[in-house]
Amino acid sequence: MERPFLKYYPRPDKRNKPIGLPESEKMSIKSKSLVIDKFIDSQISLVSRSNIERWINSLTSFHNRHSKSIFIDQVANWLKKELEISGYDKKNVKYYKFDEGFFELKNVICNRQGETNRLILVCAHYDTILGENVEDIVSRAPGANDNASGVAAILEIARILCKIDLKYDIQFVFFSAEEQGLRGSEHYAQYLKDNQAALELVINLDMIGEPGFLPTKKTVQVDVDNDNGEFSCNEVKENDKASEIFAEHMKQMASDYTDLEGKLGPVYASDYCPFESRGYVVIGAYDGSAEHNNPHYHSSADVPSNLDLEFLTSVTKMVLATILYEAKRVPLEQVSNK
Ligand SMILES: [Zn+2]
Repeated sequence: MERPFLKYYPRPDKRNKPIGLPESEKMSIKSKSLVIDKFIDSQISLVSRSNIERWINSLTSFHNRHSKSIFIDQVANWLKKELEISGYDKKNVKYYKFDEGFFELKNVICNRQGETNRLILVCAHYDTILGENVEDIVSRAPGANDNASGVAAILEIARILCKIDLKYDIQFVFFSAEEQGLRGSEHYAQYLKDNQAALELVINLDMIGEPGFLPTKKTVQVDVDNDNGEFSCNEVKENDKASEIFAEHMKQMASDYTDLEGKLGPVYASDYCPFESRGYVVIGAYDGSAEHNNPHYHSSADVPSNLDLEFLTSVTKMVLATILYEAKRVPLEQVSNK
C-alpha cells in the first residue's frame, strides 16, 4: 500500500518549461567580489576534471540505469563503494530503501557530519530513461548528461569535503526513479519532514555537462524557486525569498571562482520539487540542454563525447564554492522563512 501523503508527479520532461522570469532579471551578471575567500579558493583548486571524467565513464558503462532494470542495484552498490573509497566510513554511507510496487529501490545517502545538526542537502538522480519507450529496460541508455554529469559532480564534491570541518551537516543524496516521476526524492523528502530534519537548503544537480543551449557556452542556469508559470514546481510562496538569496549567492560564486556566468531560471521537473512542496528552500544548477532540438535528451545518444568536461568541472567548482560559502557560517544567515 502506498502511503497517502505521497504525491504522484508525471514523468519529468524538462523540455516542457515554464516561461520564467523576464530576461533582464535572469541575466544580471555578477561582477567579481573585491575579496576572494582564500580557503574557498584553495578547495576549488582541488576539483579534478580527470576524476569527473572517470566517474562519467564508469556510470555510463552500465548498460542502462533504468530503475526497473537489472542494473539499478549494481549502480547503487557502485555509488556506495565510490563514496567509501573517497574516505567515508560505512556508517556514513547508507541506502534509503523505498517500495514503488515494482521493485524495492534505493537512494544512496552519504552523511558528512558538521558541528551543528543544520543540514544542506546536495542531490542528483542516478537513473536513466529512454523517451521513445519509457518502459524499455533492456536497451542501451548511457545517460551521460542526464544525469551522470550531476552524479559525478557530487562524487567529486564529496571527495573534497570529506576532509574539511564544516559547521553544517552535508548530505550527498543520489536519487533513484527520478525519471519515473520523482519517486526517490518524494519518499525521501517526506522522510526528512517526518523526522523534522533541520534542512536549510537543497541544491539539485540535473544535467550540467552539455552547454550551448543558453546565451553563451559559459552560461549556467541557476534554478530559483520564484516562478509561477505553468510547469514550474513552485507551490509554496514562503520559501521563495530564501531561494532567491541562495541563488544570488550561487551566481556570485560562479563569478568569483569560475569562468562561468550564472543566469536565473525556474525550478521544474526534477528532484527539488518534492522538497519545495514541503516548504524547504531549494535551488539547482542546469545546463539548459533539454530542448527539442537536442537529439541526445532521453536517448541512447546521451553519451560522454557530447559533454564539455571543462564546463562540467566549472559547474562542480561553483557548487562546491556555494556549499563552502554557506556551510562555514554559523548560524547561516537567517534567510530561511520556514
Ligand atoms: Zn534528469
